Amino acid sequence: MTKELYSISHIAKILKAQSFLPHPDNVIRKLLTDSRTVIDPEGSLFFAVKAQRDGHSFIHHAYQNGIRNFVVSDLGYAEKYADANFLLVNNVLQALQDLAAYNRNANDLKVIGITGSNGKTIVKEWLYQLLAADFNIVRSPKSFNSQIGVPLSVWQILPEHTLAIFEAGISRKEEMGSLAEVIQPTIGILTNIGEAHAEGFENKEEKLAEKLKLFKQTELFIYAPEYVAGINISDLPGEKKFSWSMTLPADLKISFIEPIEGRSYIRAIYQEKEIECLIPFIDKAAVENGIICWATLLALGYSPEEADLRLEKLTQVSMRLELINGIENCSIIDDSYSADISSLAIALDFLNSQNQHPKKTLILSDIYETGKKNEVLYAEIAALLAQKNLNRLIGIGPNISAFADLFSMEASFYESTQSFVENLPAIHFSNETILVKGARRFEFEKISKLLTLKIHDTVLEINLNALAANLQFYRSKLKAGVKVMAMVKAFSYGSGSFEIANLLQYHKVDYLAVAYADEGIALRKAGISLPIMVMSPEPSAFEAMVKHQLEPEIYNSNILKSFLNFLPAYEKNFPIHLKLDTGMHRLGFERTDLPALLKILKDNNQLKVVSIFTHLVASADTEHDEFTTHQLNEFAYLYKELEHQLGYQPMRHALNTSGVTRWQNAQMDMVRVGIGLYGFDSALDHNKGLQTVAVLKTTVTQVKELKAGETVGYSRKGIMSNGGKIATVKIGYADGYNRTFGNGVGKMLIHGKLVPTIGSICMDMCMLDITGMHVKTGDEVIVFNEQHTIVDLAEQIGTIPYEILTNVSQRVKRVYFYE
Ligand SMILES: *Cc1c(COP(=O)(O)O)cnc(C)c1O
Repeated sequence: MTKELYSISHIAKILKAQSFLPHPDNVIRKLLTDSRTVIDPEGSLFFAVKAQRDGHSFIHHAYQNGIRNFVVSDLGYAEKYADANFLLVNNVLQALQDLAAYNRNANDLKVIGITGSNGKTIVKEWLYQLLAADFNIVRSPKSFNSQIGVPLSVWQILPEHTLAIFEAGISRKEEMGSLAEVIQPTIGILTNIGEAHAEGFENKEEKLAEKLKLFKQTELFIYAPEYVAGINISDLPGEKKFSWSMTLPADLKISFIEPIEGRSYIRAIYQEKEIECLIPFIDKAAVENGIICWATLLALGYSPEEADLRLEKLTQVSMRLELINGIENCSIIDDSYSADISSLAIALDFLNSQNQHPKKTLILSDIYETGKKNEVLYAEIAALLAQKNLNRLIGIGPNISAFADLFSMEASFYESTQSFVENLPAIHFSNETILVKGARRFEFEKISKLLTLKIHDTVLEINLNALAANLQFYRSKLKAGVKVMAMVKAFSYGSGSFEIANLLQYHKVDYLAVAYADEGIALRKAGISLPIMVMSPEPSAFEAMVKHQLEPEIYNSNILKSFLNFLPAYEKNFPIHLKLDTGMHRLGFERTDLPALLKILKDNNQLKVVSIFTHLVASADTEHDEFTTHQLNEFAYLYKELEHQLGYQPMRHALNTSGVTRWQNAQMDMVRVGIGLYGFDSALDHNKGLQTVAVLKTTVTQVKELKAGETVGYSRKGIMSNGGKIATVKIGYADGYNRTFGNGVGKMLIHGKLVPTIGSICMDMCMLDITGMHVKTGDEVIVFNEQHTIVDLAEQIGTIPYEILTNVSQRVKRVYFYE
């Protein structure tokens, strides 16, 4: 069977849209809201949704990518693209949801809807693992659970599907109603209701009430009474209900949980009998999600024995793509835990967002359980790879090998992971970005391991989604048209270089700024084409700067003169940025310097002042607001002088991170956001609204028991008067863990518990007091994360988050991930 074919004119009718259809018979297979993620341009319909940014401004980009079908709320664009189909609606997001709801209604199948604060994606993926043997399942890709993600997920339902599993997430009041219309679940599952996203709601009750709206029409509702405390059972949704609990009376009453060799053995009372199961995880969240799946299997009528058999085989769900340095100067994107078409498309977009190597390679296994015939499936994949400009494919598995002819790029094929690994010495890799993507059973983690350089035990993990979310956070504060310059100096505040810059470029910031020319050159070599400002241009680097189109910050007449002297006569209008000193007294022109400056610049056609800026000294401090106002006034005065004399209007900018938060009227033409992107803003209360980007981890190298009176480390500084236990961990001051953290000043997290340092911090190691804890070699140690934050560390040693972050030394491996 194939999908009920939706022609564009049929969709126009469904949406009751005014339509302009030069090609009314175009068949629509895919819906899109992001002009960058095109898979099947002819068969795609682009919705110009007004979200953080107005989707209408991406119509041109979508058109360039081959899209010829659009849903808009503003017809201004229709004339420009006379050969494209346009549907006009009042509200584009609503239209997207209506169309998805129509597709939902057109298909009669069981639909599981999942909501809650935590665990939605894991429960969804596990139910997929547990039920795939009995149903042809469609599910949300990754964690597509938003106002946009849900309709895109529901659109995927085809007539041959027999079960759908969708998750729904909300962050504000009044959001669930529309998702309920789109999903119309017949079975509802509520997962853990935590504190997450509470900010959009008055309180927990309000949040819960909103979430339960998803289940209004369900036949069966699966929940824990603890999650719905305060609500009368008769007010709960669902014709039938199935409850589980560890503490309260419930249909599935958990009586006993014990960890055994990395698995959890669980007993419960069900239908007045004792039953049991084994879940192959021990952490608390996994056990809870596992029990939710257990309850679901029983509620669906599976026998306790069958449920146990299936639960035992659950495998870890990893939603992360990791970007790691590889052999032969390659970059490896490790997505070795799953393979289906939609996650492949997401991973390919990520591959394309990383431009450090021109060559892009994919190692891909057979794909299973798509509900499609192999010839259709692999033709679709071949088209996707061609569309995404992949240069090289290595296919692993009998199915993909059988369709080798479909792939037009450089390609080679292997029957199994084993045969690829055996042949690896003869396979040539160099200067490529390699995406490793395989179905679980192919065990591609073996391949990733062989291709990546050995990871040291200390790693700085960088969450690229969190960084993108923080960028969005600051963007949402900007007035229309205000540009963003992202500060990526000092290796992006210690977080990386081209990996971060590539992400920022993908998310369309307007400018980048680095401290030194060599940082800028490295970005150019990694494929960054955004304009880049260099804040400390040195004469020795002028030549390279001009060659790589790096724009100098000019902060005094000397540097201006030497740059002009250097600049070859044929260079005209070379972009420069003028830095004005309005109170920092570091670098920059002051009032008295203007005449000399203007004398050089006036009538000079070799240079073009593209921007004029100043830096605030205390944008976060209320006590210095008067001074900040003075700085802004002085800047306005100086700018006016310059503008008048130059005869044109360079961009103006003054605000850094905290400035954006506190000085909304001084955004001018551009803002310069630095530390906020990395999750810190001293103008915000506890960085509220920002996400943690960097997590520094290490491991326990050795555990020792000490007798009373023995001492630890150099100069016998660590004294254990009563004896106890210590762990040696592989991080020291050469990694950026300051010596002043020694002797109990600093703390780290082991198994979720804060433990103090003992003795002095050594160059490559330090010791922790773990008396009374069960800790073994190889256990993970968190130096900082979202729980034990960089702000806490900074307070411990009397510094600021900037210093903690930028001090993490370059020998600490960076691992980037993207969910
Ligand atoms: C570093 C820097 C910024 C960014 O400051 P944050 O407080 O990190 O946002 C802005 N402007 C200039 C000139 C800088 O040097």
